[in-house]
Amino acid sequence: MKSSYCGRFAPSPTGPLHAGSIVAALASWLDARAHGGKWLVRIEDVDAPRCVGSMSELILTQLAAVGLVPDEAPVYQSRRSAIYQDALTRLIDADRAYPCRCSRKEIELALAQQGQVRVHGAELVYPGTCREGPQGRAGTAWRLRTNLSDARAVVWQDRRLGSHFQNVEQAVGDFVLKRADGCFTYQLAAVVDDAAQGITDVVRGEDLADNSARQILLQRALNLPAPRYLHTPLVLAQNGEKLSKQNGAQALDTSHPVAVLADAAAALGLAESSGLRSSPLHEALAHCETQWRELYNLPRD
Ligand code: GLU
Repeated sequence: MKSSYCGRFAPSPTGPLHAGSIVAALASWLDARAHGGKWLVRIEDVDAPRCVGSMSELILTQLAAVGLVPDEAPVYQSRRSAIYQDALTRLIDADRAYPCRCSRKEIELALAQQGQVRVHGAELVYPGTCREGPQGRAGTAWRLRTNLSDARAVVWQDRRLGSHFQNVEQAVGDFVLKRADGCFTYQLAAVVDDAAQGITDVVRGEDLADNSARQILLQRALNLPAPRYLHTPLVLAQNGEKLSKQNGAQALDTSHPVAVLADAAAALGLAESSGLRSSPLHEALAHCETQWRELYNLPRD
C-alpha cells in the first residue's frame, strides 16, 4: 500500500529562498521521501502587502534547481479566501470567533491599565477588550476566543524537540484570524490548508514551533485532523539570530546545487559522506535521504 504520508513546504513569497529557508524545504522533502509519501509546496501569499509578485516563481525555480520538485501543482493561498471565510464563519457561528475594533494603541493602553504590557514576539497579548462585543463600534478584525479550558493547556509532541505545553490564553491571548485590512492570518490559513491538503506531517523551522499550540487549538475548534510536527534546527546569522532577509541573508545561489544540499544537510545534523560534494544531484539527495532515515529511525521501504 502506498504511504498516506503527505508533507509540505510552505514558503511566504516575501523574498527568495536563502541558506536558512532551504534547510526547512530539504527537511520536509526528505521526510516525505523517507516515508514513501507525497511532498507539496504551498505558497503562503495570504499576507498580500508583504508578498512580492515574482517571488513565488523564483522560489519554485530555486527548489527545482536543487532537485526539490513538488508532486502536485503548488497551491496559492491568495486564491483561497472563500475557503478561509467559510472556516471563519463556522467559528463565528460556534461563538468561537468575535469581532474586534481595537487599535494597537488601545490594546497597549488597556494592558497598561491592567498593570502590565505583555508581549508575545512582536505582538501584544490581547487583553480581551472586545470579547463581550466591540463596545458599540463596528468590529473589523476577528479574533479566536481563548478564555476557554481547551486553550489553557495545549500539549503537543515534536518528533525532534519532544513534549510541549502552552497556555494559549496566557501566552498569546485571543489571536487574530482575519485582520482589519481583510487579510486572513497565517494561523487560520495554514490550519485550513493543512487539513484541506491532507497534510499528515508538518516539518518546518524551529522558529515556527511556537505557532503549533495555536494551530492545534484551531484544528480542534474546526474539528480538523491533527498532523504530526517536526521542527528543524535553524541556520543562524552572524549576530546569532535566525538567518533572514532582514539580517542580511543572501538569495540562495543554486549554481552549485550539490553544495547547497550538502550545507543544508549539515545544518540538519546529517552525516556527510566523503564524496558527497562531488556526487551527482540525485545521488546526493539519495544519500541525504539515507542519513535522514538513520537520524529519525525510519525503516527502509
Ligand atoms: N509561511 C511560513 C514561513 O515562510 C511557514 C509556514 C509553515 O511552515 O507552517 O515562515
